[in-house]
This record gives sequence, structure tokens and C-alpha cells, in this order.
Amino acid sequence: MTENQEINKKQQYNINKLQKRLRRHVGEAIADFNMIEEGDRVMVCLSGGKDSYVMLDILRNLQQSAPVNFSLVAVNLDQKQPGFPEHVLPDYLDGIGIEYKIVEENTYGIVKEKIPEGKTTCSLCSRLRRGILYRTAGELGATKIALGHHRDDILQTLFLNMFYGGKLKSMPPKLMSDDGKHIVIRPLAYCREKDIERFAQARQFPIIPCTLCGSQPNLQRQVIKEMLRDWDKRYPGRIETMFSALRNVVPSHLADHQLFDFKHIRHDSEVVNGGDLAFDRETFPLQPAGWQDDDDLTPPDAQRLDVVEIR
Ligand code: SF4
Repeated sequence: MTENQEINKKQQYNINKLQKRLRRHVGEAIADFNMIEEGDRVMVCLSGGKDSYVMLDILRNLQQSAPVNFSLVAVNLDQKQPGFPEHVLPDYLDGIGIEYKIVEENTYGIVKEKIPEGKTTCSLCSRLRRGILYRTAGELGATKIALGHHRDDILQTLFLNMFYGGKLKSMPPKLMSDDGKHIVIRPLAYCREKDIERFAQARQFPIIPCTLCGSQPNLQRQVIKEMLRDWDKRYPGRIETMFSALRNVVPSHLADHQLFDFKHIRHDSEVVNGGDLAFDRETFPLQPAGWQDDDDLTPPDAQRLDVVEIR
């Protein structure tokens, strides 16, 4: 085998391993939240960014082996931003042979007209986009709307709400839409952004840049993103542990009296969730909960060779 063939083999091995991990995480999220049921028609919202390409790719892949039958329809909203490469998504979607719809609405023009120069445009833009996507789901007869938010988006939203909103609240993997008519799902809820990034690069999806509208990035989100990245580097496993915490909520040990009935705790009440350990020194395992070192993408027969990074 030539050196090039050897490298290709290792690269393919890494891509397959990454795809398996993403599939496993998407499959677990779908099962845990009963996201997709028999006969569902899932509208996959495709922005042209890495997350939505990976979501579509993994859902198509799972469709082959899922225990339930469901159909997919990809939808992209062309917001008429200057320089939007209109042909990129249709070319890709024609190439993979999937049903799709491109919705053309000049939300960019509306936002520019309504919002004074220098003010943030994102909230009006997202509201308009949401309305159009809900309407499109109705027109297409979609039973679920799939969005490409991943684990790191969910954690960022948690901290944004805590730091700036005074709420312990994040982005749910499944919810009823605010118009009460649609079920929104986030199949990538358990997937790490770095896996999504690597997979999108390896598969060379034709990514459309997200800066076409000229809006400033959300600075608060940027700050949180940096903080989480820094923690991830300095304390491996912390991100995983924090995400595990989101899945292990103990309302009796928080302070929301509307969520837990503290008022009715009396002498004859039962001990709830281990009672109060406040006077004890709590101990935690050295290896944080939820931590799993599955970063090694090297094939077992190539452990001593240089790792070919999928970057
Ligand atoms: S970044 Fe641009 S396209 Fe995205 S929500 Fe904000 S204004 Fe809209």
C-alpha cells in the first residue's frame, strides 16, 4: 500500500468513526425525547451552515435503518441577502436526490427598512424567519420541524439565560412552537460542535457564510462561547459534565418554590432526593460525571503511526 493509500484509509476510518458517533448521539436524542414517530414528515431547516448540513446527512443516514418510517423534506429560506449564492443549496439537494423547497422572502429588505442603522437586526429577522418557516411547515404538511442546534448551543443558551436573563433555562431538544401548532425538534442536541465541524469539513459540504446580512455577531453569546471553549481546554470533561447536569435536574434542591412544593414540607414529610447534605462535605469523583474520552479517532492498527486529523 502506498503512503497516499495509507493516509486515505486512515482518513476514511476517521470519518466513519465520526459519523458513527454522530449517528449514535442523534439516535439517542431521538429516542430519549420521542422526536420522530411512525409516519412523521420532518421538515429539515437548512440554512447552508455546517450544523444543518450535518443534521440532514445524519437524518438521511438514520432513515435507512430506523425502526420507524418517516420522510424528510429540506427547506431553505432565501432571505435575499446581498451576495446569497442561490444555486448552492439547490445544486447540493438535487445532487443527493432529496425533496426540498426553497422559500424566497425578502426579509433582509424588511429588516433594513424597519431597523435604524447600527441597531441589532437579529430579533426582527428571527421573528420573520420563524413565521415563514411555520407557515411553510403547514403548507408542506410537515409534522415536525427539525432545527440544527447542538449541545454547545444548548449550553451557551443556558449561560446566557443565567448571566443576563436571571433564569435557569436553555433550549429544549423538543418543544411546541410558540404558535401552538408545530412540534420543533433538535436532533443534534447531544452532538458536540467540534464533531459537527470535523464531519462537515471531511464531507466538504458547500457551506454558505453566515455573515451576508452584515449584522454584528451577538457579543454576549461570543463571550459565553469563549468562556466555554476556555473551560474545555483547561478542564477536559467539564462541558460533558455540565450537559449531564442539564439532564439530571433536582428541583427539590434548587430554589424555585413554583417548581417544587417547599411550602408543604413538614415534620412528617418524607426525605426527598437524599435530604439536606449542606452540613456534610460533599465529595465528587475525580473524573467528572458524563466525561468520556472518545476523542481518539485513530484506527487500532495505526496507534503508533501519526494520527491523521480530520480538520
Ligand atoms: S445574523 Fe443576520 S441573518 Fe442571522 S438572524 Fe441576525 S440579522 Fe438575521
